Formats: sequence, structure tokens, C-alpha cells
Amino acid sequence: MNPNIDPTSSCPCSSNNTYSHCCQPLHLGVKEARSPEQLMRSRFCAFYLGLFAYLIDTHHKSYLFDLTLQSLTAGPHPHWLTLEVISFYEMGNQGKVTFQAWFRDNDTLNAIHECSNFIKENGRWYYTEGVQKDPVYPRRNALCVCGSSRKFKQCCL
Ligand SMILES: [Zn+2]
Ligand SMILES: [Zn+2]
Repeated sequence: MNPNIDPTSSCPCSSNNTYSHCCQPLHLGVKEARSPEQLMRSRFCAFYLGLFAYLIDTHHKSYLFDLTLQSLTAGPHPHWLTLEVISFYEMGNQGKVTFQAWFRDNDTLNAIHECSNFIKENGRWYYTEGVQKDPVYPRRNALCVCGSSRKFKQCCL
């Protein structure tokens, strides 16, 4: 799959930057993630764009288990909507990011709610593994997670 994205459009990782000023330099390998949060954002963005080689590359080899480029590419591929970073923490060569990655699957809104662990090795951050939790949906009158600027109850609920 090729990312059909205009580099001047807003980055799919919901950072409020353009793709060319956010995740693109990481995906192209011209920059390294400076923090676990930045790596997390670029990995969500890679899922969104179907950049599976980047996902394998930033996933620590000791934690890949049976995950391969082939299995990632084969899918399933939900329709990714948006990323919500809830908290992040970094200390020395370790970091954690808690997030909800919203997606739509057969018309149902769902999220991966995970606390992901990251480690830094030879100056590079890698994803290791995460603990998944149940998704927490917004309140009915809160803004929808899909970025429509409508209330959740009038949109994806
Ligand atoms: Zn981004
Ligand atoms: Zn919505």
C-alpha cells in the first residue's frame, strides 16, 4: 500500500501539524522519534497509511513474536479514524504512552485503548508491548472522536 496523502494536509496522528512537519520525516527515515509519544503517533499514522514496514521497523525485535510484515500487510485493516493520546511518560530509556486509537469496523465505532511500553536502544525508541483496556467512549454531548466537530450523540454514537 502507498500513502496517498498530501504532505501539506493535517497529519492523521491528530497532532494539529501537517504531515510533512509531523510523521512524514519519521516515515521516510530522515528523522528519529524524539520521544515515546512521537513514536506512538508515527506508528498510529503508519497504521492509518498502511506503512507496514515502518511498523515492523519500530517494533522491538524481541517482542515481535509471530508478527511479520506479511501478517501485518494481510490485515485485517479497520478504517482508522483518529488518535487520542491520553498520557505519556518518559524516564531514561523507558517510556509509556496511553492512548485510544479510534476506528470503524463494519459500521461500529471502536477503539484500541492501550498502555504501550517503549524502550530506547542505541538512541532509538522502539515499541515493545502493551496492556489493552476497554474503550472509553466520549460523553453524549462531547465532541465526536472522528473529528467532525459534531456532538458524539449526533455523529458516530
Ligand atoms: Zn503525525
Ligand atoms: Zn463522528
